[in-house]
Amino acid sequence: MNKIAVVGAGISGLSMANYLEKHKIDYHIYERRKKRDLAGHGFLIPQEGMDYLSQIIEPELLLKQGNFLKKYIQYSHTGRILAEKNLENVFAISRHSLIDLLTQNISPEKIIYEETIGLEEHDGKLKFSDGADIDADIIVISDGSRSRIRNNLFKDETMKAVRESEVVNIIRNKEIADSIENDFIKFHHEEGGLTFGILKLSDDTVLWYSQFDNEKYMINECSAENLRKYMLEVFENWHPLVSSIIQKSDYKNVHLWRVYELEKLNRFYKNNIVFIGDAAHPLIPFTSQGVTSALKDSFTLTKYLVEENNMEHAFKKYEAERKPEIEVHINNGRTLLEQFLLPINLQTQNILPISYK
Ligand SMILES: Cc1cc2nc3c(=O)[nH]c(=O)nc-3n(C[C@H](O)[C@H](O)[C@H](O)COP(=O)(O)OP(=O)(O)OC[C@H]3O[C@@H](n4cnc5c(N)ncnc54)[C@H](O)[C@@H]3O)c2cc1C
Repeated sequence: MNKIAVVGAGISGLSMANYLEKHKIDYHIYERRKKRDLAGHGFLIPQEGMDYLSQIIEPELLLKQGNFLKKYIQYSHTGRILAEKNLENVFAISRHSLIDLLTQNISPEKIIYEETIGLEEHDGKLKFSDGADIDADIIVISDGSRSRIRNNLFKDETMKAVRESEVVNIIRNKEIADSIENDFIKFHHEEGGLTFGILKLSDDTVLWYSQFDNEKYMINECSAENLRKYMLEVFENWHPLVSSIIQKSDYKNVHLWRVYELEKLNRFYKNNIVFIGDAAHPLIPFTSQGVTSALKDSFTLTKYLVEENNMEHAFKKYEAERKPEIEVHINNGRTLLEQFLLPINLQTQNILPISYK
């Protein structure tokens, strides 16, 4: 079997490594960040994602690190109940915990941290930071939604900013965690374009996030303290649960996300380079399908690498299987975004913040 290099140790790169490991295929992963340097946010993972995850991580280990959510409750910003829905096996986990679990099965010499891979424009080859060529037959690119490698390889791609930004925070606070039980609670401003979601990651850990229509709310890169002030101001007259969480939160893990999408998907491969996860297809957060799609990409690509003798056939089958499903999630994401921007009395579609095929 060919020697494989994987670029990026996020969810897609690490899950790829886990599937390769299962099939005893030789690989190395190269990651730009430091080992412990993990930005904090969390994921909602629907049942299908859990099925793929449990093939590479013991389900008991997953359960220790995250939490199944029981019910989705949608409120107006003042606390009027808009809708309720029981959730079936929707799991919540922090990115940090999931990355730790996915790293456990990989021997340390197979992950090289603090190594940024780049595409040399003049010869179209992928290189290490010291300029040496990557010695691999297949190079799997999983360097995230704003992939530089993809952007250099597909010069005509257009990346555009999405009319939504997110502030995400993970806090340790048992009192708040107890008060929300296992519900996934989301408050929506009556006029649309602003939400506040809360969910429990463990007995004492809560993730909250707010989604902003960034044309209405000018939310800029700033210090954690200024972000806190801004959040207090914007959410001042909301339900007391929201304002008290904003007030009681520690902001050391707070993160401001700007969301981008590709105007049109590229091919998922070129020559011996193949893309998985957000690098192949950025998905907007409304879909909650980023992790599941990353897992399915790495599972499917590994399956065809094992089944097919010819690399190009394997890549072709991988793309043919994955692209149509991704296009469904992209379209669902755009619909969810349109709904989010509308006043709540005009929102008509699926109330769940998850895209299903
Ligand atoms: C606000 C927000 C909320 C989200 N919520 C959810 C959710 O609820 N559920 C869900 O399923 N998904 C969610 N997602 C999406 C999810 O985070 C991603 O889809 C998922 O993490 C898969 O990412 P990835 O591994 O492809 O890329 P990333 O997680 O971006 O990982 C890319 C890795 O590549 C490394 N890298 C980058 N460039 C290089 C280079 N040149 N050389 C070496 N290494 C490099 C980076 O350091 C990083 O570690 C959310 C995303 C956002 C922004």
